[in-house]
Amino acid sequence: MPSGHQIIPRDQHCISRNNISENALKVLYRLKNAGFEAYLVGGGVRDLLLGGHPKDFDIATSAHPEEVNALFRNSRLIGRRFRLVHVLFGREMIEVATFRAAPQDPDHAQHQQSATGQLLKDNVYGNLDEDALRRDFTINALYYSIEDFTVRDFANGLEDLNKRQIQLIGDPESRYQEDPVRMLRAVRFAAKLDFDIAVETAEPLYRLGDLLDHIPSARLFDESQKIFTSGHAETSWRLLQHYGLVAHLFPFFPSQPNEHATQLIQQAMRNTDARIQAGKHIAPSFLFAILLWHPVREEMQKHQDEGLPPMQALQKASHHIIDQQIRTISVPRRFTTAMREMWDLQFKLPRRHGNRAERLVSHPRFRAAYDFLLLREESGEIEPGLGEWWTLYQEADEVERKKMVSELSPNPPGRKKRRRPKKKPDSQQH
Ligand code: ATP
Ligand code: MG
Repeated sequence: MPSGHQIIPRDQHCISRNNISENALKVLYRLKNAGFEAYLVGGGVRDLLLGGHPKDFDIATSAHPEEVNALFRNSRLIGRRFRLVHVLFGREMIEVATFRAAPQDPDHAQHQQSATGQLLKDNVYGNLDEDALRRDFTINALYYSIEDFTVRDFANGLEDLNKRQIQLIGDPESRYQEDPVRMLRAVRFAAKLDFDIAVETAEPLYRLGDLLDHIPSARLFDESQKIFTSGHAETSWRLLQHYGLVAHLFPFFPSQPNEHATQLIQQAMRNTDARIQAGKHIAPSFLFAILLWHPVREEMQKHQDEGLPPMQALQKASHHIIDQQIRTISVPRRFTTAMREMWDLQFKLPRRHGNRAERLVSHPRFRAAYDFLLLREESGEIEPGLGEWWTLYQEADEVERKKMVSELSPNPPGRKKRRRPKKKPDSQQH
């Protein structure tokens, strides 16, 4: 890999201090004034050069983490595998990393590697050139200097920005071995930036998916969240499937999903992307619930075939699928609870008699379950109709709602008759 150091003067690039967050500038200047080197790096530089709006700003400096920490009252040291400083300004967080050396360097024996070549610790400090070469992709190794406002390019990142390609620095296979999460990052950046993955960087993706099996489940949760909230989940998912990486994230996901599952996921990802683009919130549990829905249904069917009643079969299936899934991606408990509730509600939404509809509509997970139902109808898994009923019900006033319920067919199929009359007559209920 040719790696001459190019310095692009201020008048030959488009990065202006006006486009950099004030807080990031504060950190850069304070580091500089304390006598350290300080650069903006990573997504901040890359996205500004592409004319976009970086979602966050990362800083690289010659100051050691403790020195950075001492300079900022509002900062904290984080990370074990990779020691960093987070400087907090209200809701904005600026990440400050000390220059690191490339792990191949035999003089630095402190890098620890696992049997598969994975880097376990990466805390060997280095200089700016070294720091550039241990970064993942060429377009992520561009530095903006606060000293003279130049852009520093050590790995032909500018050329790749122009070619619109994602290219690992160095030998792709060993870079993936050092850190297999880079495979997911390659996909995420390709989707987000609408770049191609360079041939040599793409080729190992087909072969090295197994390496993801060694990544801690908490890290895979973080990375999957980044993918799902990137605003480009649909494309990312397509690429993950293309490179055979899905099975390493979602072990239950069939390699040949049926038409309904494919439709459901595609539409859910599309809606998620639209919400993100519109600046709306998305619940992390929703896409996980969607992705695992067909596996849960299949597992549930198995239990029903063995004679379990539907709700028990569902419970058992949900428990099993979640229990297995969190070994790969540690979805936090509060989200798995929400997923179970969404699945559960799929079987409750058809039952609307008496005051059930009213109770369902005020369930904290109703809205998500309703969106879920609409997507199932849209995917062709179930007949349309129920979704629309719920749409109208939500828009209706109290009188209309009562009427809607009373107009339902009197005995939903398969319901047992109530054995005992209600204890309280309706008039006494408030
Ligand atoms: P974005 O923040 O938009 O997702 P980013 O490129 O800033 O993109 P971060 O995860 O914030 O990504 O990381 C900041 C920088 O740190 C990257 O640009 C890259 O230079 C470096 N980096 C991050 N993760 C890795 C990794 N796994 N291996 C090597 N370098 C990495
Ligand atoms: Mg970043």
